[in-house]
Amino acid sequence: MRTIVVTGGAGFIGSNFIRYMLNKHPDYLLINYDKLTYAGNLENLKDVENSPGYDFVHGDICDFNLLMKVFQGVHAVINFAAESHVDRSIVSSRPFALTNVYGTSALLEAAKNRNVSRFVQVSTDEVYGSITKGSFKESDRLKPSSPYSASKAAADLIVRSYWTTYKMPIIITRTTNNFGPYQYPEKLISLFITNALEDKPLPLYGDGSNVRDWIYVEDNCEAIDIALHRGLVGQTYNISSGQEFSNLQISKMILKELDKSEELIEYVADRPGHDRRYSLDCQKIRELGWQPKHNFTEALRKTVDWYKENQQWWKKLKKESD
Ligand code: NAD
Repeated sequence: MRTIVVTGGAGFIGSNFIRYMLNKHPDYLLINYDKLTYAGNLENLKDVENSPGYDFVHGDICDFNLLMKVFQGVHAVINFAAESHVDRSIVSSRPFALTNVYGTSALLEAAKNRNVSRFVQVSTDEVYGSITKGSFKESDRLKPSSPYSASKAAADLIVRSYWTTYKMPIIITRTTNNFGPYQYPEKLISLFITNALEDKPLPLYGDGSNVRDWIYVEDNCEAIDIALHRGLVGQTYNISSGQEFSNLQISKMILKELDKSEELIEYVADRPGHDRRYSLDCQKIRELGWQPKHNFTEALRKTVDWYKENQQWWKKLKKESD
């Protein structure tokens, strides 16, 4: 049985990834290593918590001694753990520097000491910064704009240095904006769906023209699995579905899906340093045999339905954050 440590497995993408892997690789043991910050929620894995292939360790990725214990005999580490919300990083960069930079460094040291066979760093399109036309390739320079993306870029550089310096078998994935079930209701799609369901305003930054490329979370999980199994060590893989929409378009689609008035859209002062557009060239991951399976409109409908059917899940989180 192969043991894989998934850090940040109680968060949005991590919990979807664990569920995906338990189905895809029933012979693997997946250890969810999570600090359970405001964004970590074991409810996300309630349906699989008793699976023989699942285990949970409550821990911080900055805790090197605990990592050394947990990493004994481990085949791979997939690092999802992060402070992940740009707006929070604008309020204070400190937790971002600590978890995203120092935490990644502690993980790398422990993984190197335990001779882990694969270390996958889950990163973001935001490390490249904004692009007006065309798409970034993996070899393009990093030019992050927010304290969040700067901390993720710093982590990527440290991860890559472990390949250059020690030939440690690392792989980096950089993905565009994810959406789907179990996303903490502070990110654009989950916030707007849940606000609309409560007839609350949808706070749209600036004029709503900022463009993002959206990927359904399951497609990202499959791409990360493929990068883990078929990716070349030392390489970075961009992951995107090529489905670009402005934030205003997304807001209107959500409201239409829920049969709510566009008057719920509330234009608010733009986010400082707000990137205009992100776009990735994902030829490399496609060459490994991956392609997105979900069409945006259908996946959005599925996501809206999930938030409609799981109101207890998100209402509790929203109440706690009030
Ligand atoms: P999330 O905020 O939903 O979850 C983060 C998880 O990490 C939580 O379970 C939290 O408890 C855990 N965590 C935080 N600090 C920790 C620490 N010090 N030690 C252990 N666990 C800790 O995030 P997400 O949206 O699921 O994103 C997962 C990863 O994917 C992040 O690295 C993020 O940068 C990256 N990413 C996300 C997106 C997106 O659209 N959500 C896009 C590209 C890349």
